Amino acid sequence: MVRLSRRNFMKSLFLLGFAGIGGGVRRQVIRPPGATRDFLARCIRCGRCGEACPYDSIRFFDIAAGALFATPYIDPLQTPCYLCLKRTGEGKDEPLGEYLLCGEACPTGALMRIRNTRETLLSMPDELKMGVSVLNRDICLAWQYDSCGECYYNCPLRDDAMLDYPPSEVIEGAVGIRPYVNEKHCVGCGMCNYVCPVNEKIASATLEPGRKLTYFEERYAAMVRNVIGRAGPGVELPAVRVVKRL
Ligand code: SF4
Ligand code: SF4
Ligand code: SF4
Repeated sequence: MVRLSRRNFMKSLFLLGFAGIGGGVRRQVIRPPGATRDFLARCIRCGRCGEACPYDSIRFFDIAAGALFATPYIDPLQTPCYLCLKRTGEGKDEPLGEYLLCGEACPTGALMRIRNTRETLLSMPDELKMGVSVLNRDICLAWQYDSCGECYYNCPLRDDAMLDYPPSEVIEGAVGIRPYVNEKHCVGCGMCNYVCPVNEKIASATLEPGRKLTYFEERYAAMVRNVIGRAGPGVELPAVRVVKRL
């Protein structure tokens, strides 16, 4: 196991252009679920999808975005899409309505209406999905340290979109889980992206003098520093993140 000195870790962050790690990387626009191919032509910038979202997952571009002004997007690092599910006392996810609420509220069909059942979500056409998650094993704490697993446990489509183990790989000496994104079923909700501790926030928290770390930060901070330091400049965070489907 490679351990980084504080000095080298600081240097890595500097090289990454630490206004934010990966902050120089322009992220792709992730639209709410059901966005059609001709979304920009159909969206009238009315904001109803955002009003309908019970989790405030939908944001709108400001004037600086030019032609994209007032169109909706999702930033999984801030708030993922919860797929209009509510967790019950028994730990089960129940739909909040018959359809995903943003698409149901859209007056022009820029966001299609999608039935809120697991079967429908698992068989949604790729072009209507928000994106797909990609996982970087080199900086994933489960793959590197037999730790974590937050993405797997928090995926609303767990065991279909996110598996605890690659289906057709033999991994010598594996003790814990080894998360694996099943592209066929991942809808790009960003929950894994949101909960992954290999992120800028935890990395920077460890550098703030006198900052008391939360239990979650404390638990992962050292490992996060190590994987980021080892990966070097330019690594994209978090270890699992949503990108647009091609
Ligand atoms: S599917 Fe539901 S939680 Fe997700 S963005 Fe739409 S309204 Fe919000
Ligand atoms: S984006 Fe992540 S959490 Fe969402 S369905 Fe895909 S694997 Fe699961
Ligand atoms: S949440 Fe991030 S670090 Fe943890 S297992 Fe998933 S990808 Fe790896």
